Amino acid sequence: MNKPKMATEKGNSRVLMLLGQLERMNGEAMVRDVEMARQVTTKILHLIQTQEKSGKEVMSKSSSGMEVILASLEINNTSVSNPMLNYISLQLMLFPWLFCVLGRGRRVGVFVSKGGTGILFQILITASKDLPPSEELMLQLHSLLAKVGPKDRKFGVKARLSGALNVTISLMKQNLQNTKLLLPCLQVLRVYSTNSVNAISLGKNGVVELMFKIIGPYCKKNTSLLKVALDALGALLKSKTNARRAVDGGHVPVLLSLYLDWHRNDTRHRHMLIRKGLLVCLRNITNIKLGRKAFIEADGMRILYNSSTECLPVRTLDPLVNTSSLIMRKCFPKNRLPLPTIKSAFHYQLPHVPAVGPVAQLYSQPPGVDDVVDESDDNEETEADSDTENEEDEKDHHSNDDIETDLNKLHPKKSPGRPFEELRVYERFFLELSEDFQVSVFSSTRSTRPIVVPTAQALSPKSIPIPNSQEDCKSIKGQHTQPPPSAPTPTPPVPLTPLELDTIHLTKDQDKKEEANIPTPDGHTTFTRPPSQGQRIEQELAHALECASLEEDRALNAEEGLKGVKQEEGAEDEAGEGAVLEVPDTALLLPLHDPDLYVEMVKGTHSVPQYAEVAYPDYFGHVAPTFREPLLERVYGVQRSKIFQDIERLIHPNDILDKVVYDLDIPSCPVIEDNGESLKFNSQFESGNLRKAVQVRKYEYDLVLNSDINSNHYHQWFYFEVSGMRVGTTYRFNLINCEKSNSQFNYGMQVLMYSVQEAISGRPRWVRTGTDICYYKNHFARSSIAAGGQKGKSYYTMTFSKNFSHKDDVCYFAYHYPYTYSTLKMHLSKLEALRTPQIYLRQDVLCETLGGNSCPLLTITAMPESNSNDHICQFRNRPLIFLSARVHPGETNASWVMKGTLEFLMGTSPLAASLREAYIFKIVPMLNPDGVVNGNHRCSLSGEDLNRQWQNPSPELHPTIYHTKSLLQYLAHIQRAPLVFCDYHGHSRKKNVFMYGCSVKETVWQSSISATSSYLQEDLGYRALPKILSQIAPAFSMASCSFVVERSKESTARVVVWREIGVQRSYTMESTLCGCDQGKYKGLQIGTRELEEMGAQFCMALLRLKRLTGLRNHQHLLDLESDIIGTQTKVASCPTTYVMEEDEPSFLEAIDYSAESNDEDAEPENEHAGEVHEHPDHLDQLSDSDTNHRD
Ligand SMILES: [Zn+2]
Repeated sequence: MNKPKMATEKGNSRVLMLLGQLERMNGEAMVRDVEMARQVTTKILHLIQTQEKSGKEVMSKSSSGMEVILASLEINNTSVSNPMLNYISLQLMLFPWLFCVLGRGRRVGVFVSKGGTGILFQILITASKDLPPSEELMLQLHSLLAKVGPKDRKFGVKARLSGALNVTISLMKQNLQNTKLLLPCLQVLRVYSTNSVNAISLGKNGVVELMFKIIGPYCKKNTSLLKVALDALGALLKSKTNARRAVDGGHVPVLLSLYLDWHRNDTRHRHMLIRKGLLVCLRNITNIKLGRKAFIEADGMRILYNSSTECLPVRTLDPLVNTSSLIMRKCFPKNRLPLPTIKSAFHYQLPHVPAVGPVAQLYSQPPGVDDVVDESDDNEETEADSDTENEEDEKDHHSNDDIETDLNKLHPKKSPGRPFEELRVYERFFLELSEDFQVSVFSSTRSTRPIVVPTAQALSPKSIPIPNSQEDCKSIKGQHTQPPPSAPTPTPPVPLTPLELDTIHLTKDQDKKEEANIPTPDGHTTFTRPPSQGQRIEQELAHALECASLEEDRALNAEEGLKGVKQEEGAEDEAGEGAVLEVPDTALLLPLHDPDLYVEMVKGTHSVPQYAEVAYPDYFGHVAPTFREPLLERVYGVQRSKIFQDIERLIHPNDILDKVVYDLDIPSCPVIEDNGESLKFNSQFESGNLRKAVQVRKYEYDLVLNSDINSNHYHQWFYFEVSGMRVGTTYRFNLINCEKSNSQFNYGMQVLMYSVQEAISGRPRWVRTGTDICYYKNHFARSSIAAGGQKGKSYYTMTFSKNFSHKDDVCYFAYHYPYTYSTLKMHLSKLEALRTPQIYLRQDVLCETLGGNSCPLLTITAMPESNSNDHICQFRNRPLIFLSARVHPGETNASWVMKGTLEFLMGTSPLAASLREAYIFKIVPMLNPDGVVNGNHRCSLSGEDLNRQWQNPSPELHPTIYHTKSLLQYLAHIQRAPLVFCDYHGHSRKKNVFMYGCSVKETVWQSSISATSSYLQEDLGYRALPKILSQIAPAFSMASCSFVVERSKESTARVVVWREIGVQRSYTMESTLCGCDQGKYKGLQIGTRELEEMGAQFCMALLRLKRLTGLRNHQHLLDLESDIIGTQTKVASCPTTYVMEEDEPSFLEAIDYSAESNDEDAEPENEHAGEVHEHPDHLDQLSDSDTNHRD
């Protein structure tokens, strides 16, 4: 053996030997022999100080070193009654030893875990009984406690139970001038105070007043003591009773003037932490209403506004500016929205009002109630200070609350709830499945059969027997000779309400046309332009066409494009000669768009406000731009600067115009004329929803959105027109009554703008635009009435700036690419033209909506190859795919995805043909036409979210849901439940496209319920389609999918179709409103091209699902699906993330942008968080303390 090792062993054994000696002394109560104990411990101390390894060995988990030391301490303490014992000298000897041992964080952890904190408190109590207590001992004890405290989660409780709080406080009171002793006491107090119960108890003992004595007046001596004192005071003031004490003691003006003193004198910013500490005290005091009042009365707004403005140029002072901003936002007087009532400006008389629910509440509200604000909501003063010591045990318990744990509910019922007699009437929507169909299918290839099913009451059961599909097949096979197809019976096209020309005034009356030189949307007016411009437009169009043709994934459109080029040539000649331009000719690029047809469709659309205008973008059409639209990079400090501008309204009230320029509450004349100094607003067209526009400053407008009809909230979607702008001026627009607590507008999403000048110059398109975009909680009060009874909800401002490039332009802004109900009708009408003899397309009217609009139902499949038995049989037995979209009107992206699906299905590609041959598609492309028409964000005319009505839809109030569900129930009855059900949605708070599905197993996994293995034997078919999509669709992200069944979603289409109809592959497909953070489109905002592509890829995925199986055998399909997605264990090892809410899941990039945020310890979760929250790490570097709760 070599020497070094021997030496190490020797060292180790020596320490252990000494420890053993100490242990024996403890055991034999030999501690009396102070001299001997001192010798032993001095030797141990020496070894630890000189040999790293010795220290490690003493502190290692396997060693009892720490126990031995603690035992010595404890024995000494309990032997205090022995007058012979010189315990003080022994303890004084032990403390430096402990300091050495506790020098590192990990060692403190061992000390705490062995019960060291308790022993220190015992010694403290014992020592405090000496009068006066030994100053040196107290100093040592508090210094040790200050080190231990931050590492012991139960420190506060232990201190209170041991009685240590009072020891520390009385010590402080007696030693206010003794800085040496005061500092460690304050350090310990700072830890005591983080416990809310302690904070109240300390407050009762006068500690708040004591702290104010310590922190003031301004003095640059003892800054480290001041810093600790401010930390402790800040922690104490988190208690509302303490905050009230501070207000009552008149300390708010004191804090403010102290802050101002430090602001003025700390010119080199060396004491930022003290300034920050003062602001934290103010921030906590202003959490209570009295505190905010005192702050305002002390001119706090102006003081903080001015000081912050001076701090702005120095980036290192950002924490001060941010905290000041937080305080000012909180104290900013709550304003009321400039509205007479928060109820929608339009009312729709329902056939009957439901007995309970939001609409009932809305209707039963007594007249004269101010529903815009209710001061009574401010009940925070009564809030009790509660014991929240165990908060670490409570955390994370809420996140799983919503998971369905009732195993009965997790087991799909599969039994339709309605008698078949009632459902039989829906047979008429499934002509392709019916008995004599082989005749009719060949007889009326170009016919559509309008069938109106008004309500369930109107339905009378028919006595036609419905054969089930198998019998059907047999009976067909029995016939060897087919009767020749009978003569076609022509039927009228899709039934839309007859045109009533005289009731429609088409938009943009004459004066506007002259003023803006814009053609009227009725298409009759021609527009004269210099020839050069006309040619430029042609070039532009030709270029756009070329780009479109080059698009790799647009085979279908490329073909359309070729057709278009020929037409274009013709158009060019015409333009060259006359240079007369009508509306932009988009026919080449938009095969489903036709301006004239659009106007016709508008005439048949019924809106509650009886809109008589057409918005240009919907009329001209939208040609997706070919350039990339990257996510907007957020400018540093943008939110802060916007908030400062808002605060300036209060500081400089004389600059505020407050001029109403648009007001829907003046029905006769919402557009207020002026001398041209203001912008002109309008949104009286389909899907428009601006309620009011107020010019705040010369180039700044507050915009208020209308509530969903028969509702008093759901503000988020917007679509409005602006005109009368100046070029070279930046306008700021604020949508001031948004409701969601966060938005993708904070993460790169821009608003959409459509310029009429651009459109008539050959670029008819929506483009992502706007700068300085951000979304934050504002100072407008939201009454509990307008928040579904919930108190303390706020409104949010979505702000953006725009510098317009054309004079006399008419521009439109929207939340997302608009897609109106009239647009759908136009598209469906044009789809007919894409029909070939091989395509079976039928358009039915499923029902009428409350508002009198028809809800279309499409059937798309391939015609049978022939009328042979085999082909007819194959035709009838194709699995069904059931798709729906746009139950939420604000999710216009869902309609664009649906458009992509429909165009693909009607396409001429071999893939589309195979797909049609593989399946029968049943599609309800717009489940909520009324909501779309009337500019709602979420609801139908019943004032309810239709995607929460699927369990028990009312035929009167929710006809589209009632009848769609009935179709599915009918299918279940005849054993033809669809293979796939998918409802298309849009998502405002996440990126990418993803799906929600239903899985018993994954729900059980995510919850804590125990289930027998039978529940866990679930085949994994539900994962195949999303998995395929993640492979073929660049926007699709498997990682964002979830297959958990939530309680709050039990009445959504997805869950009801899964549970009641028994469709295993029942999905919600969510498309982002913003953009992608993975795949080919990473870093880009999503456009209609990508959305339509997604719709087409959904079809491709269905085809791949079919092709991978290669068989029509259903069981085989399931087995193969399992192969595609891997074994059960693979899935188990990487389950998808569970998200709380289907439509608005808990935000993965969660940041509290609210004014009330005071969670200092929260770690910023992304790069933007620093704007609002201070980085604790950054502060720690500057801190003179090691107190930091982060374990
Ligand atoms: Zn939705």
